[in-house]
Amino acid sequence: MSATPPPESLPNDQAEAQEQCSDLVQGYDEDGPTAFECGAPLRHTDSGYSCARGHSYTYAAVRAAEGWDYASDAVEAALLGHAGVIGIRPDDGRPWL
Ligand SMILES: [Zn+2]
Repeated sequence: MSATPPPESLPNDQAEAQEQCSDLVQGYDEDGPTAFECGAPLRHTDSGYSCARGHSYTYAAVRAAEGWDYASDAVEAALLGHAGVIGIRPDDGRPWL
């Protein structure tokens, strides 16, 4: 009897580390302006995740508990504001208003 486990049963510590950021980044290719996925490695936290290039995402439950939410433009931020919620720019995490 051998006590050595088969190789496929070994834990894979790299699976989480290889998850990549899917935020769209403005850029250029041979056809002109375009957008592509960021692709930087993601780092998970208790409240969401962030990537090595500075993108971040906070879970909806955490946003609600802290009284803010993502707004794609100032109009959406104003609507959130009427509901007592702070509208935050998804790009840099700053408030719109
Ligand atoms: Zn990213």
